[in-house]
Amino acid sequence: MDVVLVVNAGSSSVKFQIFDVAPGTEPQRLVKGQFEGIGTRPRLRAEANGGTQLIDKSYSPDQVADVAAAMAAASDWLQETQTFKLTAVGHRVVHGGPDYDRPVVADVEVLARLERYCPLAPLHQPNNLAPIRSLLKHRPDLLQVACFDTAFHRGHSAVADYYALPESYHREGVRRYGFHGLSYEYVAGRLRTVAPEIASGGRVIVAHLGSGASMCALAGGKSIESTMGFTALDGLPMGTRSGQIDPGVLLYFMTEKAMAPAAIENLLYQESGLKGLSGISNDMRELEASNSPGATLAIDYFVHRIALNAGMLAAALGGLDAFVFTAGIGENSSAIRARVAAKLSWLGVIADPAANTASKLLISTPESRVGLYIVPTDEELMIARHTLSFMRT
Ligand code: ADP
Repeated sequence: MDVVLVVNAGSSSVKFQIFDVAPGTEPQRLVKGQFEGIGTRPRLRAEANGGTQLIDKSYSPDQVADVAAAMAAASDWLQETQTFKLTAVGHRVVHGGPDYDRPVVADVEVLARLERYCPLAPLHQPNNLAPIRSLLKHRPDLLQVACFDTAFHRGHSAVADYYALPESYHREGVRRYGFHGLSYEYVAGRLRTVAPEIASGGRVIVAHLGSGASMCALAGGKSIESTMGFTALDGLPMGTRSGQIDPGVLLYFMTEKAMAPAAIENLLYQESGLKGLSGISNDMRELEASNSPGATLAIDYFVHRIALNAGMLAAALGGLDAFVFTAGIGENSSAIRARVAAKLSWLGVIADPAANTASKLLISTPESRVGLYIVPTDEELMIARHTLSFMRT
């Protein structure tokens, strides 16, 4: 059986999925797994599509010291136990820089170019590229495809792409890239099936509300604005990331508090957002279960910023025909959806409480001027599809 491996490599974990790519059909997910605790307490877990556990194995830190070693151990396990024929690997790569507006075959030249974007995403890009480099060395025959979180947003107009800085900074790559592009691309594709009239000509906001959170304005299925910018820190507050913050606060941290760049980075990426505000957790489920003032503030702030940013994106679109919830919180929290919908009533949004509680596809009433939808995202399937498109050309 021909399969495609989809890889999403982080600093201490590698998530992977295997898709059956029989000709003429949509990729079918067969296996979902992850290597966690790389370099500290490495543990490989995987399950078949139906949920059956296939492996749960711990390794010593010297056996699996880095991402490349984790990839090697995972592929050893796959080769020993599964009868797949690996035909291609699709990689999630956070940054495609200013130029890549679509996925690309990751050969040696492309890898060198993508390495130049590491300073634009120092926490993610080097980890995303490590498995590509290692496979180019050990399996140079294997087709590898890099799929970018930025690519879907590359058609933005200049006013959406620039910061109000001297032009030279834009030329060197300081731009509003936007992220979560694979999720938005998948959702835009699903809308073409489930709500074709909205997908083709509609003005749509998609809210990707997961551990990372952002929103995207879609006009006729294309991204025209995003709440994220140069990095995945901007816009909405997230599990542990601050979201939008006055740059003057950072100047204050540097000059008055003598904080080093690494300390500021840690604060903004790891200690802020829902975790920082609540003082309890970055997990929305825990906050919803708590009645502490911190949890209440964190949830209120999250909803408030979603509503503010929705107003901004509706202005970019010149109105609003549909609002879509996706990702962990968007797909699962009926309470957050209800609160966001109530805040958007001025735009003509009327939620249907029963449909919302039942997590239906359409959760607005027939009278609502704006269609409210829940569309579960699938970034890995999007990567498998992109990878397949290169195999078939
Ligand atoms: P990522 O893929 O970025 O790690 P997810 O899209 O899985 O993130 O989203 C994770 C978030 O979704 C967490 O904040 C988690 O609490 C939240 N979440 C998951 N299930 C629920 C639920 N039933 N109710 C509320 N929040 C949920």
